[in-house]
Amino acid sequence: MTDDECGARLLGQEAPLAQALAAIRRGRVAQAQILAGAAGSGKGLLAEAIACALLCESPDPQGAGCGRCLSCQGVCRGTHPNLSWIGAAGKVGIDEARRLRREAALSPSGARCAVFVVEAAERLTGPAAVALLKTLEDPPAPVVILLLTEHPDQLEPTLRSRCLVLRLRPVGTESVRRWLSGLRPEVSDARREDAVRAAQGWPGRALARLEDAAPGADADAVGQALCDALDGTAGPARTAAVLAEAAGSPARVLEVLRDALVLQLGLTEDITLCSGASRGALRALAPHVSRRLLTRVGPACLRLQEGLAANVSASLGWHIMANRLHASKAPC
Ligand SMILES: [Zn+2]
Repeated sequence: MTDDECGARLLGQEAPLAQALAAIRRGRVAQAQILAGAAGSGKGLLAEAIACALLCESPDPQGAGCGRCLSCQGVCRGTHPNLSWIGAAGKVGIDEARRLRREAALSPSGARCAVFVVEAAERLTGPAAVALLKTLEDPPAPVVILLLTEHPDQLEPTLRSRCLVLRLRPVGTESVRRWLSGLRPEVSDARREDAVRAAQGWPGRALARLEDAAPGADADAVGQALCDALDGTAGPARTAAVLAEAAGSPARVLEVLRDALVLQLGLTEDITLCSGASRGALRALAPHVSRRLLTRVGPACLRLQEGLAANVSASLGWHIMANRLHASKAPC
């Protein structure tokens, strides 16, 4: 597979994938499989690779999906009619379990089975687990259910006993480093090393760290923009532009404000600074930060965060946020 193809981002999970593929080759696919691994281990990518193998139009001799056919592409894009993801929105209740059964009853259109991926499956408890067991005991059509979880021991024992368990393992530091260099060659050595350290062997965490500290996420520049806004040096339009560019996310604005307050209150012995801003930048900002400011700007940051997640205009959102900041600068 090339880097653009499905599954190319899965790193170091050859063993559980080989275990799943061997069963597919032998025609003895476990109807229910638990994919157990820490956050960032690649459970979702492993689920995609298994779904590709099950639905591919021309699998390779090992049984893996080709990554190129319409079915494989549909799996990778999340558009395959016989693949459903459940629980992504945070709910895995009885309604979702019943939906799974209803959808399973619709016979797969030309595919050998329907594949269901249940995210955070440890939340699937009580009646939902019973409904799922019923589907497994009396499947209305061929189904394979992949249960992703960080906590396999928290699954209902009756459900767990019906499943093949595939365990994802942490990956060596050097492997994560090489993989990240191939995947994100534009990233500087310093940022890559920071991400590799943060990963602790789980590749997804390295990527999350890079996204967290996206280019332009410059905590000192955020501190300076906040100072300029709060001492009146910059107007709301300028503040909005600089914060959008330097912070990248409203959460970083809150982190910088929080750290300045921690410094101002002399609490650095007890509370770790987390924003990445230098002490010099935080000291300059500290006199401007008050409880009143935080109670006004905090909710605005959270609203902006939600708005950005819901695709509201980023530029409008940052302007509203900057106006709020400027309105909060009056002395207590
Ligand atoms: Zn294929």
